[in-house]
Amino acid sequence: MRIITADFVLPISSEPIPEGAIAIDRGNIAAIGDRSSILEEYPSAEIEDFGAAAILPGLVNCHSHLEVTAMRGALDDVEHDFRAWLLKLNGLRAAMTEAEIIEAARNGAIEGAQAGITCFGDIGRFGMAGVEALKSVGLRGVLFQETEFSPDDRSAVDDFYALRQKFEALRRSANDLVEIGLSPHSPYTVSARLFRLIADFARSEGVKITIHAAESDEEDALMRNGTGFFTEVYRKFGVEWKSPCASSISYLASTGILAANPLLVHCVSVTDADIKIIADNGASIAHCPKSNAKFGHGCAPLEAFLNAGIAVGLGSDSVASNNVCDLLEESRFAALAARNRRGRNGFISAREALEMATLGGAKAL
Ligand SMILES: [Zn+2]
Repeated sequence: MRIITADFVLPISSEPIPEGAIAIDRGNIAAIGDRSSILEEYPSAEIEDFGAAAILPGLVNCHSHLEVTAMRGALDDVEHDFRAWLLKLNGLRAAMTEAEIIEAARNGAIEGAQAGITCFGDIGRFGMAGVEALKSVGLRGVLFQETEFSPDDRSAVDDFYALRQKFEALRRSANDLVEIGLSPHSPYTVSARLFRLIADFARSEGVKITIHAAESDEEDALMRNGTGFFTEVYRKFGVEWKSPCASSISYLASTGILAANPLLVHCVSVTDADIKIIADNGASIAHCPKSNAKFGHGCAPLEAFLNAGIAVGLGSDSVASNNVCDLLEESRFAALAARNRRGRNGFISAREALEMATLGGAKAL
């Protein structure tokens, strides 16, 4: 038996404990309480006192792309143009070897662990890199295998087959701490038919899903009116893509994917009706305020999510869109940005921000 103590213990799920202590038995928490009663209960335990510190649960980073850790700063020259940023990212990633991607993911996992993150919701195109990174650093997480650029209904069956092959291969290397999920990238890079196939598979097999959704006004205009943003990319690649004339969230609901309770990333350009759809479907949200701010995409209505009873966690996104993986800093930024948003409907406290970085993230993931 071992006891760790500090001036504060923050269980998050209950009130802070001044002069707190935690009794640990073979890696499991046996008891939490005030120092004097825990010491009395376990008189022969070895004691380690951290003094003027707070002991709290590990931080949960709900949204990352560890495999692009090597691109920190490499895309900053196009951060004002999100479409150019996405295309440049894909170009740079295509030029990386598997060994480089694996090393990048591992470096990202180490950076996260050093910042107190013990659990990741990580998206990977080359999923094995993230799985190996989490396993080698000893972290918990869900590795979501991402779809390739697949917006055309005509190739949906083949796209799904290829995705499923990758998923099954990854699942063989999962362990007690690392689970495998799927990430249909976004409403505009995945066809409706592929969304339906993934939704049926996820629901029948209980597979976790995450999707980038409602990230920007440009995406909203593309989905609602079929204008701007990705239209010339579709033309260039000869893709048949038709605007659903709906918001990203209501479109996703129409494909059936929301019934798989996905973790929706960003949700910046959402209406009250969208928020109700998210809540009614039991979907959760990965809030990434620094990534949104870096691109000038706006500030998601955080208090509205929480008021609607949606599980909300925080995500750093990749270091190419942050430029660090520091969830405590993310939580501070989340609170300050929410307080500073025009039309806000409430005041996010430090306590709520810390809860999102820990328990909220765990629920969302
Ligand atoms: Zn992302």
